[in-house]
Amino acid sequence: MYRIRLHGRGGQGMKTASRILGAAFFMENFEVQDAQRYGAERRGAPIFAYVRAARGKINERGVIACPDLVVVADDTLVPVPAAGVMQGATEKTVLLIDSAISPEDWRQRLNAPGPVIIMPSSRRLNPSEIPYLGAECAGAAAGLIGAISRDTLKEAIRQELALMQPAVIGENVKIALAAFDQMTVHAGIVTEQDRSTAHGYETPGWIEVPTDDVSVAGPAIYKSATSVEVRTGLWRTMRPVIDHERCNRCTWVCGSFCPDSAISVGDDGYPRIDLDHCKGCLICVAQCPPHAIEAIAEADAAVREKKGAPL
Ligand code: SF4
Ligand code: SF4
Repeated sequence: MYRIRLHGRGGQGMKTASRILGAAFFMENFEVQDAQRYGAERRGAPIFAYVRAARGKINERGVIACPDLVVVADDTLVPVPAAGVMQGATEKTVLLIDSAISPEDWRQRLNAPGPVIIMPSSRRLNPSEIPYLGAECAGAAAGLIGAISRDTLKEAIRQELALMQPAVIGENVKIALAAFDQMTVHAGIVTEQDRSTAHGYETPGWIEVPTDDVSVAGPAIYKSATSVEVRTGLWRTMRPVIDHERCNRCTWVCGSFCPDSAISVGDDGYPRIDLDHCKGCLICVAQCPPHAIEAIAEADAAVREKKGAPL
């Protein structure tokens, strides 16, 4: 199954891109899911859309946690924690990014585990072409995937944009095909990975949850300075992990930005994260100048801890 996540800002056409890709996969006889997730309902807010496509049944639902392809239409989203652009990326995840910065720089900045490809955008030369970004992203993604033909892409765009003026449809087709053609040199770089299956799933049995008396379950706190007792670390779904090899020990940066004062300085000058009170906002990940802080899913951190692997 192909899992594709598209990141952009409201108004940049990521919904259109996912619709076009979904329609094109469907025309190539794939089972398809395509859906969009909006943040704040306003232009410019980070949004993402996703597409799943498989030759068989798709039993997976919800957001794509481990994408095979991440398409980023706006590179200013990368440092925005709420956008979660690199979430779940592995060494097999292809990052396609619309940016004037080189792939090597992105690899270095993001500590990106997989291939990074820059979208061959004509808009940097001609900003009036911003309205065609969705079709361009879909065309470039289709070129990288290699399972969608040029004719199918063209037909999917015509179908999805059918209510538009013929000239606008024609321009979208032209830009999408140009992006497709430029990406075919990498055709097939995006691979289908079947990481999970619903086969053999056992439904959990009934779990009896004990309840406490209200005097225990809802205590009133009258003492001051008790916030340390509130383990905000329990809110965390992503954990910041510091790579000491890359860390410059400029602890005034991460330490000052942490809204929960969860970063202190150890005797060796390196920052320490208080995981009992780090709520996982990932502001430190975005602010660290040499990108020495990685965000890993708590579930993965738990597995690493169990194996005694370094965190
Ligand atoms: S900001 Fe980054 S490099 Fe600087 S001390 Fe914190 S983790 Fe290290
Ligand atoms: S993730 Fe947020 S709360 Fe945790 S250490 Fe980083 S900035 Fe502080």
